[in-house]
Amino acid sequence: MLHWLRTNLEQIRRNINEAAYKSGRKPEDIKLIAVSKTVPMETIKAAWEMGVTDFGENRVQELTEKFNELPEAKWHLIGHLQKNKVKYIVDKVVLIHSLDSYPLAEEINKRAVARGKCLDVLIQVNVAREPTKFGLDLSEVDDFINAVKDLPGLAVKGLMTIAPFVGDPEAVRPVFRELKKKFDALKTMEIPSAEMKYLSMGMSNDYRIAIEEGANLVRIGTRIFGERKK
Ligand SMILES: *Cc1c(COP(=O)(O)O)cnc(C)c1O
Repeated sequence: MLHWLRTNLEQIRRNINEAAYKSGRKPEDIKLIAVSKTVPMETIKAAWEMGVTDFGENRVQELTEKFNELPEAKWHLIGHLQKNKVKYIVDKVVLIHSLDSYPLAEEINKRAVARGKCLDVLIQVNVAREPTKFGLDLSEVDDFINAVKDLPGLAVKGLMTIAPFVGDPEAVRPVFRELKKKFDALKTMEIPSAEMKYLSMGMSNDYRIAIEEGANLVRIGTRIFGERKK
């Protein structure tokens, strides 16, 4: 059943392993997040049976519905998050990849504290400064980390970016390299409130290059589940 899914997953795992070795790391240091937006639950459950543990969604309602059907899985919110929707996901996600403003940080903090928990988040960085994308400028990251350091309901665990979509993914290698440089610089500073544990970058088109440049979380949809219906 779902042979194509198994084939896709095996291919991706091989590519991840190869890119990991190329960057001097072990395959198990790279975590695959299967981006399951628009994918039916049946297929998601099949992927789970095949060993996929982490799923990424970019819409709150879709995430909560799918969480309810497969609460054993780890669910990641990878898309832009509106403040008024934070309350629906605080209990359901293991990691928010898309922290992109101070008001959003305050809201996550408020909702997490109310439930007596601390939520792991990544700061989304718009490295290429694309006007159509969310995320902070690289130059804003230090001040932002400083601004959120006293919010007990959230723990910064790293950085995330979405690279520009280009035909030849080699073209975005410098984007990944730049974010890795920032990640390493912050790691060296050993800021207690901003542990640099996860670097979330790489999608279907460019994950191999992202891993070669240091990503340890990759968010892959199309190459696993096929083209999404528009
Ligand atoms: C949809 C999406 C992905 C996956 O994209 P594919 O090209 O299908 O792999 C990754 N990250 C984010 C933030 C997304 O919205």
